[in-house]
Amino acid sequence: MNLPLIIRAEKHNEKTAILVPRGCANATTDGVFTYRDLLHISSQIATGLIQNTEDLQEQRVAFLIPPGFEYVATQWGIWRAGGIAVPLCISHPRPELEYVITNSGASIIIAHPNFEGILRSLAQEHNLRFILTSETLPSNIAHLPEVDITRRALILYTSGTTGKPKGAVTTHQNIQAQVTSLITAWEWTSSDRILHILPLHHIHGIVNVLTCALWAGAECHILSKFDTETVWRRIGDGDLTLFMAVPTIYVKLIAAWENASKERQKSMSEGCAKMRLMVSGSAALSVQVLEKWQSVSGHFLLERYGMTEIGMALSNPLHGERLSGYVGKPLPEVEVRLVDESTELVPPGTPGEIQVKGPGVFLEYWQNPQATAKAFQDGWFCTGDTAVVENDNYRILGRMSVDIIKTGGYKVSALEIEEVLREHPDIQECAVVGVGDLEWGERVCAALVLQGSQPLTLQAFRSWAKERLAIYKVPTQILTVEELPRNAMGKVIKPTVVELFAILKHNQADQDVRPM
Ligand code: AMP
Repeated sequence: MNLPLIIRAEKHNEKTAILVPRGCANATTDGVFTYRDLLHISSQIATGLIQNTEDLQEQRVAFLIPPGFEYVATQWGIWRAGGIAVPLCISHPRPELEYVITNSGASIIIAHPNFEGILRSLAQEHNLRFILTSETLPSNIAHLPEVDITRRALILYTSGTTGKPKGAVTTHQNIQAQVTSLITAWEWTSSDRILHILPLHHIHGIVNVLTCALWAGAECHILSKFDTETVWRRIGDGDLTLFMAVPTIYVKLIAAWENASKERQKSMSEGCAKMRLMVSGSAALSVQVLEKWQSVSGHFLLERYGMTEIGMALSNPLHGERLSGYVGKPLPEVEVRLVDESTELVPPGTPGEIQVKGPGVFLEYWQNPQATAKAFQDGWFCTGDTAVVENDNYRILGRMSVDIIKTGGYKVSALEIEEVLREHPDIQECAVVGVGDLEWGERVCAALVLQGSQPLTLQAFRSWAKERLAIYKVPTQILTVEELPRNAMGKVIKPTVVELFAILKHNQADQDVRPM
């Protein structure tokens, strides 16, 4: 039996699956690709991957390809060959790529020629098979393995409260459950047409947009790079039915709308009005942004809550009243509960930790049974987020750990960044915090105790850090202090560090990073 995703695609053969607008910056291949194209090319990729074996048997295949048809065909090719897909992040510097490749134990790397320089040398160093997407694909299709849905499909790296990111493993069955829950709740059909502007190493872009669209037999129009002009132009064309983004993207789209001429504003707003649904998630949506977007687009954004490890858990309704500041109720097939420190259920009106159960919840952290065991209580996944139920709707209150920062939709770990910053020869001690920001949700900021006599400029600091950390993890503001505020136990008091930045508005670098 083929994977259900493949069987479904066969029914849509001649329908458009992926459309990549012509001339789209960074696009690897532009044009229109049918489900038949996707099935054919992915079977060729799978054939090339399995070589003389019959099945990759869950070998990890790391791949770095800009958003577009080649990305999707490769992801499907890995699945059809029986491998586990490990998507790499385009904006990651070498050390982060190397970490994901080695931690996942990838045996094969697939790279677009844009990334050949870094990835070929990593493959050589670690003795891995290296494939370029520009290589000729085999013309004879091999007999592809039957892949059971209980097998592992995907590893997505996600930051937590400890050190380095962990690989969250989902099976085909988990992904299927995540997708069907959203298809039911948001009534996806094969007539849908969605604009894809999200990164393809994160659940939001991979599951909520790409896989939902392909499961439904819909059209996924992929922009390989986010820029407000292109997004607005596509929305203005008036042929899209769905749009999903993080709050920071909505803030940027609002700013571009405000700068447009009256005539253009009208066509932008008309394009929005033609859509049936616009969704926000991956970070808290402020009521201010929600209201502004409503005046721009006529849409009351549907806010949902989810996480790499669980898929989507809570959502405002497609039909019926959506409440601003709330994330609604549990999605189909998802169980949600709120508990206190002693794992007792809390009554409505009392804050508690969100815990989630259901077929969409991930299998494990890759080769980290201890972290996996710690993340569950009696079969419930502990999200580390707190919420309260009011009038039957969940309201997210925040995260239990100050060391998890959400910036532009990206989840980053303060501890991971601190570990890297301590390698800087001039930095003796540091504390990384998230400071509230209207546009980015939070900005990554670092208080530093320096050693040596040289002052450290923000520019020099950032260029050093960018070589070691993903751009969205690099602090945009630094503050040199004599000593870090600590409590009696010697632990850094992070809220006090946040206050230091709140009064310091100057000397701030631009967020030269695309939001998620
Ligand atoms: P990620 O695994 O990168 O998708 O990040 C998941 C985290 O994003 C959650 O644990 C929450 O802290 C946060 N998050 C997701 N959706 C929302 C939302 N609607 N409101 C507030 N926080 C959210």
